[in-house]
Amino acid sequence: MSSLIQHYINGSLTEGHGSKRGDVFNPATGKVSAQLALGDTKDVDDAVAAAKAAFPGWAQTTPLARARVLFRFRDLIEKHARDLAAVITAEHGKVLSDALSEVTRGMEVVEFATGAPELLKGEFTEQVGRGIDAWSMRQPLGVVAGITPFNFPVMVPLWMAPMALACGNCFILKPSERDPSASLILADLLKQAGLPDGVFQVVHGDKLVVDALLKHPDVQAISFVGSTPIARYIHETGVAHGKRVQALGGAKNHAVIMPDCDLDKTVDALMGAAYGSAGERCMAISVAVAVGPVADALIEKLIPKVEALKIGNGTEDTTEMGPLVTGIHREKVASYVTIGAEEGATLLVDGRDFKSAQNPGGFFIGGSLFDHVTPEMRIYREEIFGPVLAVVRVPDFEAALKLVNEHEFGNGTAIFTRDGDSARAFTHRVQAGMVGVNVPIPVPMAFHSFGGWKASLFGDHHMHGAEGVRFFTKYKAVTSRWPTGIRQGADFVMPTLG
Ligand code: NAD
Repeated sequence: MSSLIQHYINGSLTEGHGSKRGDVFNPATGKVSAQLALGDTKDVDDAVAAAKAAFPGWAQTTPLARARVLFRFRDLIEKHARDLAAVITAEHGKVLSDALSEVTRGMEVVEFATGAPELLKGEFTEQVGRGIDAWSMRQPLGVVAGITPFNFPVMVPLWMAPMALACGNCFILKPSERDPSASLILADLLKQAGLPDGVFQVVHGDKLVVDALLKHPDVQAISFVGSTPIARYIHETGVAHGKRVQALGGAKNHAVIMPDCDLDKTVDALMGAAYGSAGERCMAISVAVAVGPVADALIEKLIPKVEALKIGNGTEDTTEMGPLVTGIHREKVASYVTIGAEEGATLLVDGRDFKSAQNPGGFFIGGSLFDHVTPEMRIYREEIFGPVLAVVRVPDFEAALKLVNEHEFGNGTAIFTRDGDSARAFTHRVQAGMVGVNVPIPVPMAFHSFGGWKASLFGDHHMHGAEGVRFFTKYKAVTSRWPTGIRQGADFVMPTLG
């Protein structure tokens, strides 16, 4: 009998009302490791009611006191980083060292959010009129929800929750149903840190739970990260129900390889960015744009490295690339390799037949490499989300930039060059939200904000940093005078304060 992963509502674990169960797999073995309680609308109602009841108390807590809870939470994350990483590897499949880095990147948002007293400071203008002062402030929204993807089961919830909590909101997390266990460790650590019940809750589930959150009249805002079709749906549905929505979607990140780059370092960077985490990163590089004469040398150096990738269980120290998250996803990625070959791209390394001797049931696939990919091909246009790198050859910088800018997605991108002029022109003109110069995965630190452009983000705000504070607060402006400053007689004109 496998164990049941429960919801966390109002400070306690519960099976909830829903009777549906989902399988959670260990992707390295292919075996079911646990059952997940999939919630229904009553579970959402319970969580929202508990959050609504907890909100006045949490909103009244001073930013300093909220920050102190987050300080303790941050220390607990550090103390339990290995437990969190082990759970990530067991349910997602990524290698343990990568899972630990994910925990660190999430913890950094908690560190940023401990600055709540500074972050929530308003602005004050003395004497905007005679005897009149004005100030502005940011106040919490109320009950807010986060819906997160499978590929970062710790980091992405931590892009949202610490910011929401620091700002005085109550947060309900709907984690991915594929790797849900880490969310419950986070809930437990927050409780240990002193967070009152109802302020952070977890409701597991599928579309039913997501729709209930999107339509619930007491949920004020939805923060979403996932694939583009669902992000678009979340944005449209949430906005139609009067909510503030930020919805981050999929990606097809291009690395532009200039002929003057340091080729060995660039190849190393591409290997990590294309095949790390088995390509299941929204910031993974899936297209290498080879400019001018660099293409042949690039391909020559990439082939042996892709062939030599060390693939295995993420718990082994020597593993560079773990399995894909599910058997279904493995089949989808393999089918894209078939499509690419049928479309006429040159398949230089074919990962479809990879088998793990130790774990024959695991959802493993080898790394694949395509050359001569063209913009009409599906393997160029669509997000594969697996260890497949497509090389597109272009004659010059302008053609490379045009290619990046005309793609539907605009999450991250990078240029590899030694030339400052090319780097500056690229960073200035490229249509993407996050740009690297000789940095393949330019994920902004917590004190900057994370988000893409075009079909990679729907809504107005990026994640965390100053954008996170704006997203999770309402702006209020106050103009004030005391009786001695009030002029005699009624004003029938629009007041001017000069
Ligand atoms: P997904 O869109 O399938 O699922 C994301 C969340 O939405 C999950 O919690 C899931 O339960 C829920 N969901 C799924 N189908 C739904 C539906 N029909 N209605 C309502 N809710 C639904 O994404 P995934 O496969 O878990 O994650 C991978 C995707 O996320 C990739 O496209 C990747 O690029 C993207 N991603 C983007 C970013 C970013 O910052 N832009 C970061 C990480 C992942």
